[in-house]
Amino acid sequence: MNGNKPWRCKNNHVLGHVCRNSSGIQRLFLYRKALEEELFGKTETEVIAVIEGYVTDVSCSLCGEKRKWFP
Ligand SMILES: [Zn+2]
Repeated sequence: MNGNKPWRCKNNHVLGHVCRNSSGIQRLFLYRKALEEELFGKTETEVIAVIEGYVTDVSCSLCGEKRKWFP
C-alpha cells in the first residue's frame, strides 16, 4: 500500500505505520489496536495519534511489548 511502512513490535504485531509528508518528514500513525501482521493494509484501523517527534514507550495492545519511535 502506497509507501506506508508498518511499524512493528518485536513480535511482528503492527502498532502503526510510518509515512512521509510532502516535506519528507516521517510521521508515525499510531493505531488504537495493534494488528496481526497479515492484516496490515487489509482492514480498517483506527488511528489515535499522528506523531512527528520522539515518543517513548508505545506499548503493543496484543503482547505488551514496548517500543520507542524517533523519526
Ligand atoms: Zn506485539
